Amino acid sequence: AKLRVGLLFGGRSGEHEVSISSARAIANALSAEENADKYEIVPFYIQKDGFWQAGEVAQQVLDSGVAIENSAVTPNLWQFPAQASEIELWFPILHGPNGEDGTIQGLLSLMQVPFVGSGVLGSATGMDKIGMKVAFAQAGLPQVKYQALTRSQIWSNPCVFPKLCDQIEAELGYPCFVKPANLGSSVGIAKVRSRSELEAALDNAASYDRRIIVEAGVVAREVECAVLGNDQAQASIVGEITFDSDFYDYETKYTQGKADLLIPAPLPEGIIQRIQEMALLAFAAVDAAGLSRVDFFYVEATGEILINEINTLPGFTATSMYPQLWAQTGIPFAKLVDQLIQFALLRHSGEQ
Ligand code: ADP
Ligand code: MG
Ligand code: MG
Repeated sequence: AKLRVGLLFGGRSGEHEVSISSARAIANALSAEENADKYEIVPFYIQKDGFWQAGEVAQQVLDSGVAIENSAVTPNLWQFPAQASEIELWFPILHGPNGEDGTIQGLLSLMQVPFVGSGVLGSATGMDKIGMKVAFAQAGLPQVKYQALTRSQIWSNPCVFPKLCDQIEAELGYPCFVKPANLGSSVGIAKVRSRSELEAALDNAASYDRRIIVEAGVVAREVECAVLGNDQAQASIVGEITFDSDFYDYETKYTQGKADLLIPAPLPEGIIQRIQEMALLAFAAVDAAGLSRVDFFYVEATGEILINEINTLPGFTATSMYPQLWAQTGIPFAKLVDQLIQFALLRHSGEQ
């Protein structure tokens, strides 16, 4: 009999549309010739307001690729579709908050059904840029200097705020990057070069998240490595992203033609090996499982490799970096999706 796979996509996140594209690519791969006999796809679509849709509505979003803008129900009426009880394995392909951050993974854990990707700890640690950096530091991974802040430090006390900015200027200098700790797709991130920009960026970042991080800016090439597996995970070849804009911001990420992916990255063999080693250390440091894309800064002037972040549910469209890295490492898209499901089953059985 076919394994009934719940494909969970959409989500209450700024990366809702990317998730739909990722889900379409995965559905396509699950119905490819080599997988069609093994898996039955059952789509579950989470609307932007958080409402779960199954059945025809979910299938329609999957087929058309078009998000549902308005809820047909009261948004706070959270209901669980009846079809969920028949699912034998979940494949969550949700990016960003409320999906990549451990919340959905907690729900799926409570269901006692295997699911693709990291569990609660790995997802939450990988999502939070402060928690992630603490884990990376503990694993001895080099990274940029940073300061962690809370919204209340920024908003609540007008006497403390100038001192906070003084401290950031003294320790990190300009340019620095101000980021909400728990987002993705560069949402809410600003590169700042002056006191007034710093103040405005902190205020803005605080509107997105309770936790805020400020990092020293580096001039570097941006390289990425894909990881696949559980306790004995493997690293792919390394890819590079090139673009003309000031940094890899939202517009650069999602406007066709603004960024190029170079696979493999034109780098010396020694650097590639070091990046692969660091990617596996990072994967283990946050307790990731199944898949992750680990992103680095390569400072060509000094030869330094700094870890930037881990993404535990990276973009998974046909043209995304993660599946492309594996394709060129020797695992084509349909096989990759099959392996992720097999790793989920192994993880659930407790073997690895
Ligand atoms: P996200 O999780 O939203 O992708 P990142 O931390 O990866 O957030 O930051 C997005 C982009 O901002 C990076 O890809 C890079 O172009 C730029 N950036 C972020 N932090 C730094 C930094 N410390 N120095 C230089 N560039 C940075
Ligand atoms: Mg990210
Ligand atoms: Mg990033």
